[in-house]
Amino acid sequence: MTYDFDRFLRYDEYTSWLHDTAAAHPELMTVESYGKSHEGRDLWLATITDRSTGAPDSKPAHWIDANIHSVEVTGGAAALYIVHHLVTGFGSVDDVTEALRTRTFYIAPRVNPDGVEWTLADSPQMRRSSVRNWPWRDGHQAPGHHERDIDGNGEILSMRIPDPHGSWMPSPEEPRLMVRVPAEGAPAGTPRYRMFYEGDVVDHDGFTVPLPPPPQGLDMNRNFPAGWGTTVRGSGDHPLSEPEIDSLVRAIVARPNICGYNAFHTSGGVLLRPSSTGPDSKLPPVDLWVWKLFGERGRTLTGYTDHSVFEDFTFDQSDTMSGAADDWAYEHLGVYGWTTEFWDVIQHATGTKPGTHIWYTGPTDAEELAVYRWAMEHHPELYRDWAPFQHPQLGPVEIGGWNELLVWTNAPGSMLKAEIAPHAQFAIYQAMCSPKLEVLHTAATPLAEGLWRVEVGIANTGFLPTYVTERARRDRLVLPLVAELQGAEVVGDTARRELGQLGGRLDHRFAYGKHDGTPERTLVAWTVKAAAGTTVSVAVRHQRAGSVDVSISLGG
Ligand SMILES: [Zn+2]
Repeated sequence: MTYDFDRFLRYDEYTSWLHDTAAAHPELMTVESYGKSHEGRDLWLATITDRSTGAPDSKPAHWIDANIHSVEVTGGAAALYIVHHLVTGFGSVDDVTEALRTRTFYIAPRVNPDGVEWTLADSPQMRRSSVRNWPWRDGHQAPGHHERDIDGNGEILSMRIPDPHGSWMPSPEEPRLMVRVPAEGAPAGTPRYRMFYEGDVVDHDGFTVPLPPPPQGLDMNRNFPAGWGTTVRGSGDHPLSEPEIDSLVRAIVARPNICGYNAFHTSGGVLLRPSSTGPDSKLPPVDLWVWKLFGERGRTLTGYTDHSVFEDFTFDQSDTMSGAADDWAYEHLGVYGWTTEFWDVIQHATGTKPGTHIWYTGPTDAEELAVYRWAMEHHPELYRDWAPFQHPQLGPVEIGGWNELLVWTNAPGSMLKAEIAPHAQFAIYQAMCSPKLEVLHTAATPLAEGLWRVEVGIANTGFLPTYVTERARRDRLVLPLVAELQGAEVVGDTARRELGQLGGRLDHRFAYGKHDGTPERTLVAWTVKAAAGTTVSVAVRHQRAGSVDVSISLGG
């Protein structure tokens, strides 16, 4: 099947596209299932690298996953676009070719296939993440409003109900658009409304409409074992209680060559980084410096701004959000994690980035108006006229307004490709900053009859040190470099040597003056007994920086 990144794929199409793409590029890409979702769908992982230069696990790797949150389908499309960019660019686009020759990409484009399927269904149901009933196992609906496509038109729009005490009124400039009643009240004679998403009111008492969580109340991006807590909304029964997250964490941990992590979400047009739970002043200064460097590059490549979740996007810093994927990647793997929030319709409409208020209080009236006018120009079908509807509990209401899924939450199809494409460059950039093992020197020197000194000079030619982050070094999260000689008897020492960690070009940034040293190199030597003409082999292994095998012939 062909796909031009102009719409969102249902699960069967997504599965076909991924397998077709792998089948068309067998030398670069494989697809495997790393687990099953709650509803039994396979969780797909694409592994992409140039097999002719080594197996996937012999190279440093970058991990991308998407769509842990159901409605954030732009993220899933972006992950597929990166798959496409890598396999079609290999051999013709220089930086793609080099990236696949030297690095591996692991891409899980749909962490939560069930939730995405509910979102894209003909009769959609929007959930935060998993479709598993939680906390009630029987799907109990608490009293109050429950979202549903109540008029059956395939969209979840808004309901408005005339109410003299309502918080909403028609915009004075654009009467179809609903805006908040100002603090001092509406001008005399202005009709006022109460607003809800389309849905039913369970056990309606005729006066109040509570807003309980849906029967499927999980947030799987709070289910990671990173400061996990029950006070965080939707965090689950215990860390990794959800099959999607348990499988994801196992898949990541089984690939110790991963050096970088990026989760794809919507919306906001921002690159978010840890910590979600503490200030930048608590991070190791070198790690913060690198994150800001990467963030600066991310800004240039994607136009998105970079932020600490805690510093810039936490309304109440005494009540933080734990259990998120990027925090887990940093705290438990010791790699730089990012959460990319795709799409910022306000920036498209106004030409300027909204302030952080957007995360706490939503758009201002001026921003809402600008987006409305932008939508009328580009996608008028995404704001519906208000149409009368007889609601089973609330009586006469009107249904209309925003298709939020395709305006506010995601890029509309016509703008999807342009929105996601630049992020392939940021993925390649992150991958290329990883450490990379190379053997730059070998020698065999005769010491006496049948006795040789064998030398191997090993270097990390990447930017980051072999341990990647200071956090990983400090917490000893990464195994040491190992070199092992085979093919001759080693005298006076072991054949297998543990060589610690190597610095990277990053170290030279923090060196004093223009005075480098060689923190990224090590020389290892063995004395061996062997006849002239023997060939010995040395296996150089580092879990993150990769594997290199060299053969050295002794004289002859
Ligand atoms: Zn999200």
